[in-house]
Amino acid sequence: MTCDPQGEGGAHDEPGARDPQAYAGDGARPGAHGPERTAAAFHAVYGYAPGGVWAAPGRVNLIGEHTDYNDGFVLPLALPHTALLAASRRADGVLRVHSGDVPGGVVELRADALTPAADGGWAGYPAGVVWALREAGLAVGGADLHFDSTVPTGAGLSSSAALEVATATALNDLYALGLEPQRIARIGQRAENAFVGVPCGIMDQTASACCTEGHALHLDTRDLRQRQVPFALAAEGLRLLVVDTRVKHELGDGAYAKRRAGCEQGARTLGVRALRDVPYEGLGAALDRIEDGTVRGLVRHIVTENRRVEEVIGLLDAGETPAIGPVLTAGHISLRDDFTVSCAELDLVVESANAAGALGARMTGGGFGGSAIVLVEEADAEAVTKAVTHAFGAAGYAAPRVSPAVPSAGARRLA
Ligand code: ADP
Ligand code: MG
Repeated sequence: MTCDPQGEGGAHDEPGARDPQAYAGDGARPGAHGPERTAAAFHAVYGYAPGGVWAAPGRVNLIGEHTDYNDGFVLPLALPHTALLAASRRADGVLRVHSGDVPGGVVELRADALTPAADGGWAGYPAGVVWALREAGLAVGGADLHFDSTVPTGAGLSSSAALEVATATALNDLYALGLEPQRIARIGQRAENAFVGVPCGIMDQTASACCTEGHALHLDTRDLRQRQVPFALAAEGLRLLVVDTRVKHELGDGAYAKRRAGCEQGARTLGVRALRDVPYEGLGAALDRIEDGTVRGLVRHIVTENRRVEEVIGLLDAGETPAIGPVLTAGHISLRDDFTVSCAELDLVVESANAAGALGARMTGGGFGGSAIVLVEEADAEAVTKAVTHAFGAAGYAAPRVSPAVPSAGARRLA
């Protein structure tokens, strides 16, 4: 997933969302985004130096969309955009959280009195992690936390997973819990599912916790096996652009839940545990057994999408990176026509980018807004960016935000 609960509505230019490229020049908070600035901000908020600074990235999914709740495959990569967290352990059980990215001051809680029902707003993400760690029987007490993130919120780039994974990684070190990155990811997912109340899959947190530089992460969401797949963009003269459409369309009655229920219905009709178990070779016969046209489309997307993940991995392993372009575009068409989760802005990114010479493009994330990715030859990056921006202007849309997606490292301690 695709942790993109529907129903946020409108543009997502809330505090915390910002142009990652313009971020270093952010006049409101001097100094480049980095551990020194985050540590200094912690000092200003809490009056003492932090015990350390940690980083956890946002992510984009290269291919494998809506497959994660069908036990399927995903292939995300970590972004250079990161949530930085300056943190210290506290002996008195008090949990204080503060973000430089949202208005409002320090939120003060007690680590031993956290309840999922208490809607603490954004603080629910870090508080949920403390809750999930304690629920898992781990000895975690109080802490002071200060966040400073360049992951735009609500753009489908997983700013929420970045917060969760940064929190779990910091507490893992501060409380010497000895958790592996995969376990940290599961703690983050549990926080988001059970404490914040967002029914996301495991992809976002796994990407943030486990990705490595220069790679995409092949994750089998059934058994959580993973493999780092080399994704050599720069070496091959290529760029992957993230185009944030800056819209998030309201879809009132839970489009995500409907798709999910439709997938489950398809699996039931076909007598399989999950749609992942429908072989690509048997797709035609499987579709013949489904009467409901909508469910047929959902099934066709999931089965062909899992196949596309395998195709992309095969091409990357063979060093044929440019050839993944058409597979990305095929994935978009499937999301648009079969899974019906695209929107006019996302379609326009794909169409205008491809018309301007991109190798391929697709929406990424849950859909109905958020971001698209575009694979281009480095030499064409500027022209394609201009073409997409121009197309948005001509359509009367606000200018999209375009930034390069360099496959980056997962969560780590910085200081
Ligand atoms: P996405 O994960 O796709 O960016 P979500 O809706 O899942 O979108 O998560 C966004 C929410 O996460 C924000 O509304 C906010 O509550 C929280 N959040 C993300 N980044 C920050 C931040 N830097 N400071 C405070 N809250 C944040
Ligand atoms: Mg999220």
